[in-house]
Amino acid sequence: MDVFYSDKQKTFIPPNPDIPDRVEAIKDYLERAGGYKFHNIKSATKKDLLLVHTDAYIEIIESCKEKELYWLTPDTPVVEAVYELAKIAAGGAIRAAEKEGFALIRPPGHHAGSDYGMGFCYFNNIAIAVRKMQEKGVKKAFIIDIDAHHGNGTQDIFFNDKNVFYFSIQQDPTTVFPGIPAKNNDHVINMNSSAGAEDNDFMAAFENVKKYALKFKPELIAVSAGFDTWHNDNMTDIKIKDMNTYRKIGEIISGLGKELDAKTFVVLEGGYCINVLGALTWNFLQGLKS
Ligand SMILES: [Zn+2]
Repeated sequence: MDVFYSDKQKTFIPPNPDIPDRVEAIKDYLERAGGYKFHNIKSATKKDLLLVHTDAYIEIIESCKEKELYWLTPDTPVVEAVYELAKIAAGGAIRAAEKEGFALIRPPGHHAGSDYGMGFCYFNNIAIAVRKMQEKGVKKAFIIDIDAHHGNGTQDIFFNDKNVFYFSIQQDPTTVFPGIPAKNNDHVINMNSSAGAEDNDFMAAFENVKKYALKFKPELIAVSAGFDTWHNDNMTDIKIKDMNTYRKIGEIISGLGKELDAKTFVVLEGGYCINVLGALTWNFLQGLKS
């Protein structure tokens, strides 16, 4: 599997849990495990960003200069380095979409909407990649978001685009960040798990992805992969305790890809339990490769 990574991400150390060690831990694990080919990332262009974000919003991030700290929200600072790194992250998502690979990137993206950033997210990496693939001729895309937080930004971006299905499973977002209720329609489906939900509850809800994907018949499956559902990850109250659960999630997505003959790619979102993050990601990717 092709993995898209940039060591430039090490230069961005924000005062929040999205630290460089997250990506480094995953990279080290995948390298040791073998079977993953690493590629450097070509940044997204401003034109790519404009597929999703407004000019005015991009301008806010682009115009920030060092030492002039600007806060989008109290957990999401903008410094000079952010613009270049967020373009690298978005570029990684685009390359992963093109190569059916894994974008091992930060900052994450799924909380960012067309004209806002929050929750450590600046540009919506997966949305930019999906829009780019639409530009290249993909008619129908299906986004699966397994991060423990709701991808409110991704939901908002595609809420009125019937050619993109957003299926998201998460802790009920009114009980954890971002604190905004999720919205559903005929192509936006949110499965909310209660705080404290463990493997079986989470998987029972996740199984619903099959019926929606098979009915929608996408040509492309885009996965927002977050690993903050792990029980020792203190960012949320979802309590997955068996690493095999991530493998099973990967296997279900792989099965859908085969049945639908859909291309599949993965973009990293959250996951903050550094000592196991590599193993969780590897288990998921192994399931996806099966
Ligand atoms: Zn998350």
